[in-house]
Amino acid sequence: MPWLKEGDAAANHPIVLSALEMEDADDRILNECFGWVNRCATQSAAYEKDYIITIGTARQMAGSITRYHALVKAAKFCGYLTDTEIIVDGEVRQAFKLVEDNDLFHMILKDERAWTNQRKKDQRNPELTVPVRHRDGDACRYCGKTVNWSDRVSGRAGSYDHTNPGRKATVETYVVCCKACNGQRADDPDSTWETLPAPTEPLYGPQTVEFLANHDVIVTPTYTRPEPQVKAEDTPPVEQPTSAAPGKGEATAPTGPSSDSADPGATASPAHDLGRSSGTGLGHRSPRPSHVGTGRDGTGQVGKGAQLPTQPPKNKSKRRRPRSRGRN
Ligand SMILES: [Zn+2]
Repeated sequence: MPWLKEGDAAANHPIVLSALEMEDADDRILNECFGWVNRCATQSAAYEKDYIITIGTARQMAGSITRYHALVKAAKFCGYLTDTEIIVDGEVRQAFKLVEDNDLFHMILKDERAWTNQRKKDQRNPELTVPVRHRDGDACRYCGKTVNWSDRVSGRAGSYDHTNPGRKATVETYVVCCKACNGQRADDPDSTWETLPAPTEPLYGPQTVEFLANHDVIVTPTYTRPEPQVKAEDTPPVEQPTSAAPGKGEATAPTGPSSDSADPGATASPAHDLGRSSGTGLGHRSPRPSHVGTGRDGTGQVGKGAQLPTQPPKNKSKRRRPRSRGRN
């Protein structure tokens, strides 16, 4: 992952071009200044200096004291750099602050980098993920819809979310979350999202059952992926309506839990879905038949119930990527 990104149009950024407005501009100052600042910025990012360029780095990159002074003058004139002070070993030192303009340079800050690493660390920590998956099952704690752990792309992809962003997770602050909610929440500057209560009867699909079993936690599967023969028999009339409901987008309906969470092919025991109705917030699920909302087999496709019988059961372990995100 790069720690410093240069804007696609950086070469013609107003700050860069303003070098030509200097009274004593010569035919090399624009490129020289841009290249010098670029090297300084790279050094700053590499050492997690957060847009700070030390005098030593600036001099080293300039090549000579003469050019150093000329380049500092030009860089300040253009707006690349401003003077600042830093504390080194308790001592105040002069330094330069690189302009924060993503169209020119975007630097990953030290805290951002640490947070990225912490997120990855938490995701790989079974001391967190096992109790969280055991507690939440496969339901997103924001929208209530069932996630798909083998999907890494669509809005229904299974993920985890820190309810206290920026801080190392605990079991209490870590929840199962669909990718759609995860993405939308991250883009919400107000962070007003609240989690649903943990389900009283979590939904455990085959993947979570296996995941937990690998960590010596044995749970009973509460659903499997839709089996063709089951759908064809149970309350067929309901299948058709569901073909229209899909596509509505998981992200849109907090009420969705009722329909979507049952979907993941809850062929085995729809009763478990309904069991959540006991004040969990997920309990709004409608007691629709197990096959309802299927027709998708994780594909996001609906209204294809007639084709399902042709699909071999093993497909449940390899769900196709939803064709329409909205459905799942
Ligand atoms: Zn969600």
